[in-house]
Amino acid sequence: MIRLAKNIKINKNLNKLASNYTINNNNLSKSIILNSRNNGTNKDINVKSFTTSTSTSTTNKPNQTYVFKDLNIFKNVKRGKEGDIIHGFKVVRIRDVPERQFKTYRLEHIETGAKYLHIDCEDTNNVFSVTFKTIPKDSTGVAHILEHTTLCGSEKYPVRDPFFNMLKRSLNTYMNAWTAPDHTSYPFGTQDPKDFYNLLSVYLDATFFPLLKESDFRQEGHRLEFEQLDQPESLLKFKGIVFNEMKGALSDPSSFYAEVAQQHLYPGTTYAHNSGGEPNEIPNLTYEQLKDFHAKHYHPSNSYFFSYGDLNFLDHLKFIQENSLSKFKKDNLINTNVGKVDRWTEPKRLHFKCPPSAMDINPERKYKFSISILHKENKDLFESLTMHMLSNLLLRGSNTPMYQSLLESGLVLDYSPNTGFDDNLLESSFSVGGIGIKKEDLELVEKTIIQTLEKSAEEGFSRQVIESILHQYEFAQKDVSASFGLKLVGALASSWIHGNDPVDPLFLNESIAHLRQELDKSPFFENKIKELLANPHRLYITMENDENLQKEDTEKEMEKLKQIRSKLSESQTNEIVEMAKDLQNRQNQQQDVAVLPKINICDIEKQQPKVPHHDTTLGSTPLRILDLPTNGISYFRSTIDISSLSPELKPYVPLFCSLIDEMGAGEFDHKQLDTEMNLYIGKFSVSPLITIGHSDLNHTQERIYIKGACLNENLVKMFSLLQKVLLENKWKNPDLLKNLIGQKQASLVEGIPSSGLSYAKTLSSSKFTRAGELSEQWNGLTHVKLINDIVSKNDMDSLISKLLQINEFILDRSLMKCLITTEGNNVANYTEKLNDFMKVFSYKNTEMVVNTKKPVDPTNDSRFNFFPIPATVNYISKTLQSVPYTHQDSAPIQILTKVLSEYLHKEIREKGGAYGGGVSADGGIISFYSYRDPNLDKTLNAFNQSIHWSLNNNITTETIENAQLSIFSDFDSPESPSNKGVGEWMRDITDEMKQTRRNNLLSINKPKLEEISKNYLLENNNNYVTVLGSKDSSDLNKFNIKQITV
Ligand SMILES: [Zn+2]
Repeated sequence: MIRLAKNIKINKNLNKLASNYTINNNNLSKSIILNSRNNGTNKDINVKSFTTSTSTSTTNKPNQTYVFKDLNIFKNVKRGKEGDIIHGFKVVRIRDVPERQFKTYRLEHIETGAKYLHIDCEDTNNVFSVTFKTIPKDSTGVAHILEHTTLCGSEKYPVRDPFFNMLKRSLNTYMNAWTAPDHTSYPFGTQDPKDFYNLLSVYLDATFFPLLKESDFRQEGHRLEFEQLDQPESLLKFKGIVFNEMKGALSDPSSFYAEVAQQHLYPGTTYAHNSGGEPNEIPNLTYEQLKDFHAKHYHPSNSYFFSYGDLNFLDHLKFIQENSLSKFKKDNLINTNVGKVDRWTEPKRLHFKCPPSAMDINPERKYKFSISILHKENKDLFESLTMHMLSNLLLRGSNTPMYQSLLESGLVLDYSPNTGFDDNLLESSFSVGGIGIKKEDLELVEKTIIQTLEKSAEEGFSRQVIESILHQYEFAQKDVSASFGLKLVGALASSWIHGNDPVDPLFLNESIAHLRQELDKSPFFENKIKELLANPHRLYITMENDENLQKEDTEKEMEKLKQIRSKLSESQTNEIVEMAKDLQNRQNQQQDVAVLPKINICDIEKQQPKVPHHDTTLGSTPLRILDLPTNGISYFRSTIDISSLSPELKPYVPLFCSLIDEMGAGEFDHKQLDTEMNLYIGKFSVSPLITIGHSDLNHTQERIYIKGACLNENLVKMFSLLQKVLLENKWKNPDLLKNLIGQKQASLVEGIPSSGLSYAKTLSSSKFTRAGELSEQWNGLTHVKLINDIVSKNDMDSLISKLLQINEFILDRSLMKCLITTEGNNVANYTEKLNDFMKVFSYKNTEMVVNTKKPVDPTNDSRFNFFPIPATVNYISKTLQSVPYTHQDSAPIQILTKVLSEYLHKEIREKGGAYGGGVSADGGIISFYSYRDPNLDKTLNAFNQSIHWSLNNNITTETIENAQLSIFSDFDSPESPSNKGVGEWMRDITDEMKQTRRNNLLSINKPKLEEISKNYLLENNNNYVTVLGSKDSSDLNKFNIKQITV
């Protein structure tokens, strides 16, 4: 999921997303933020992500959170002192980080020079990672293919894919691997000590002693194969998982743009290559080069170990020494110098073509443009922090100069994907640009960017705006946030591998204090902008959407294959057939996975943990109180039932939600409101919410969900702002509205390729229940169409009237319920403030209808829908009806989907070459899926085959246990205090229901699963298939071809 690159789009609103902005160069947090911005585009796959995970639901759990047993106890156990030698490591430096209650240990392995950092804290979710500095010298994707191939079997664990098998044999809270432009990381997380060492053993063996078999290289990387394996007269093709993964990644216009921009700003260095691999260069990589790259880079002398959590890390050191490091000597020949860029004396200009957006909504706005400046070597934490702040001051939110001159003026529809400050590479860069630009405006955009910088360098920023951003940093420091240890893996690695002290970025408070002093002394940020403006190493990059680019690429590939085919001798042809068969045999072989360590199924806790809560009422409004250690933060949640809102207004609810804090309110215009919210509120969001009855799929609740969080001392301010936003919103501003909707349209359309699977699934699921139907209206392509209609009709008055009606409707206490999370000593105060806030709403006694209407009978509609998008791979979803949460078959269905996924992983990913595929069950729907998939019919066949497979005596105790483990590692994954108990509150799920489900999941047998497979899958013909994909796909006969059009 994470490619640590500069493609992460800067978010326009700071406080909606700031929660994770805890460390200055926190890549992972940025990507989590991106995922959480959920205005209709559910990013199912992050834009540019070269990782090994197949399913975002099993391996990529960014929302998991770490529970500090007691936030107020400082970790005071000392484990050694500086200068000590422990298990072959020398303790180099020990530092306390008071603001985080951490004790950090930096060590160096004496024999090999391997670096080690441990962060000792009370967090039970222990994290480990090993990182190697990897410096590719071309775009064959060698680092990325190696990342995949190391996970295909090692000396101690010679099974085909230990990594994927461990997902099912452990209670991990996270397992992944990723390739960044200059390093490769292998992280995992778990709460179980035994599991920690199981995983550590597999990870160490995989990275230091991989088998790197040629067949794995061919499976994961690339190979030549005939379309029908054994028939040389069929079409010759390139296949391989990474090959298809990168085709998918680069057909996303945003990833493509960011990649090209980076490559040209850093000429002569490793960053001038695509570390993920260019599909046209990947086939040039040889097996020998792969092995050589491993030998030169995956050596202890080039490695960085990281551990985090409450386990005694001295045991980790012992384990690592005994199982890997003791087998190596120092290697002084390893050269992983990135090399600094030769600085330009004058700016450069480049013009490129890029893949088009999924919809040609603005044919005249085909251009993307940005200015990138190569800044400084990343050595200085303070410099990084202040450059990030400068970037926020210039760009984020409606009260910033660049936003006003570029977006609010309508010159561009959104920032370019590289916009912002990036310190992930050896030298940092700062970029600003836009997408959706008219040709005749290109010059003006360039001029405007420069002029805006010049003007800001003259005028500076108001202290209030600066304080509002500092408040966001300070809030984030206190917010016990999701997956903190894991975020550190990504955040610390990029500076650590370039020789910086990885602990420095944790001392945020010192840097902020330092900044406050500087601000009093000098025009601090003004000087920084002047420095940027004086820098001649500046790249002006223009890109033009080109409909034909992909076609040309495909033709080139076909031509290349034709050439190869024509030169093949008979023996070479036979060799291709033989190797293909050999690979297939290997893939079909039963594996002896018993060599892999495993958590015992008995280790799963039988008793469902409970989150204590207190239910009460304020007036007659239901209120749930959760008393949890929140570190000085008050969390607020409220839902407003909108089931009886008029059906004409309902489609506009997502738009209403996303605009509610962008229009201005009370005495504040939209710019001032942005600053006020940043000053006093740490997190804020309003979103549409659909919940399905736990015992009846047709019992749907339709609601608006409001979330806010602030420091305890800002409660009154938060409620006062919330009151203004709800009661005194400035909806009557057609110009602003039009501008904001234009931006939303651009980002929705730009996001279609990366959300392909989510759109396919939403549509496929829309025909079974009211919830599915509504979800399509709110999150699906139907919503995209609505936004397009609004833009083309351009009738803002009518829109304003609708938004006002929705606003009026929701100001009704009889429709509300609330949840607060705070520490005991703040409960009384909080309840009192909430009570005051609630008093402004009156009871209108609107009826809360439960919507049980089923969608219209779909028999007339096609069950097979295909939407062509400019991509060379497919996103496939096939759905069937399932049962509600408390139904006795619900737990076995969940187990069965895990079991089937094991089969599908092999067929769709290993054999088919897709990036991922499987089946899942939630919300009363069973859904088969694949993504970045070069196949269509073959995958649909695999979906069917998996059902027959499950009925042919292939389910074993082992497969069932694997499924149980993988479900419980999700089920029991840790949650932050702010998220605890929320799902139960939202869906009225009781502790008893959860306990029953746990019991059901733990008592599953084979006959039951076979019965489920027969009843719910084999004999169920009520299913829908939706595909977003390449229009060049063959096998389209049975499909109803539709257009994602205006
Ligand atoms: Zn990958």
